[in-house]
Amino acid sequence: MSLEHIIAALETLQSDALDKIGRAQQSHQLEDVRLQFLGKKGRLTEVLRQLAGLAAEERPQLGQKSNAVKERLTQAIDQKLQALKFAEVETRMQSERLDASLPGSGFPRGHRHPLHLVMDELIDLFARLGYSLASGPDVEDDWHNFEALNIPADHPSRDMHDTFYLEDGRLLRTHTSPVQIRALKKQKPPIRIIAPGRVYRCDNDASHSPIFHQIEGLALDHNISMADLKGTLKHFTAEFFGPEFPLRMRPSFFPFTEPSAEVDLGCVFCRGSGCSVCKRTGWIEILGCGMVDPAVLEAVGLHWEETQGFAFGMGIERMAMLRYGIPDIKLFYENDRRFVGQF
Ligand SMILES: [Zn+2]
Repeated sequence: MSLEHIIAALETLQSDALDKIGRAQQSHQLEDVRLQFLGKKGRLTEVLRQLAGLAAEERPQLGQKSNAVKERLTQAIDQKLQALKFAEVETRMQSERLDASLPGSGFPRGHRHPLHLVMDELIDLFARLGYSLASGPDVEDDWHNFEALNIPADHPSRDMHDTFYLEDGRLLRTHTSPVQIRALKKQKPPIRIIAPGRVYRCDNDASHSPIFHQIEGLALDHNISMADLKGTLKHFTAEFFGPEFPLRMRPSFFPFTEPSAEVDLGCVFCRGSGCSVCKRTGWIEILGCGMVDPAVLEAVGLHWEETQGFAFGMGIERMAMLRYGIPDIKLFYENDRRFVGQF
């Protein structure tokens, strides 16, 4: 093959390679081009084999030409490689672009549960009347929960309590009243305590939950009368619901108080005109109370002639339902943020 032919072959090789380099979309395709044209077994090596058939004076000319082709292609591959890398970075930057004007992802704010809000408010309210906070265990024994509160084993009111018993004979307290007994065992009158807490009964329907909350009040001293009880409760409802709602006491029965009363408040929803909540009566029952029964005083070593006083107890769920107009007791226990966030 003559020098002209070889040089023409080199020209074809170069234009073929440049064409492939131009069309390469990814760096590995460029690597293929490099191997195919400039590799040890590549097309350039193939052409240079013809060198042997040339005259000695023609060889430098071909050497020069093939070096030029090699240089040209290497340069073209490197340039293209640079361009591809740049394009890759560009694409990545576009896809990862940060838009500082987008709204941030919100940090949800916590809220106090309405039952805790009501509990704290009641504690504060009675603290201003000189009541101190008292507490007792959720797991009680029969004596504190029943016996000492004048509810002996065969007493019919035990049926009303639907008690959860533990295997060892202890029980989950059915009311916060045992806290009265525990406080009186520790401290002699005069005493004024307020005791909020969880209580348990085997009840579960639209208006009852097996776990609910009560708050218990106890005031013992000399010469405390039913009038003091009524005055205290009037102050409480005026502060908690507003002074415009009337209060009435109806005679009732509880084993641990004598006399006992149930307290009604003028309906906070219809203001006395009658609605479905108050069953058209204009009154809503809010709590039970009475003068501490002499038998209860006796159980903790006190005597009715020296010490008198009153106790009252109310459901915290009920207070919160009346205060905020909540229709269903179950809403308190579902922990739906939309519900809790309203208060
Ligand atoms: Zn009403």
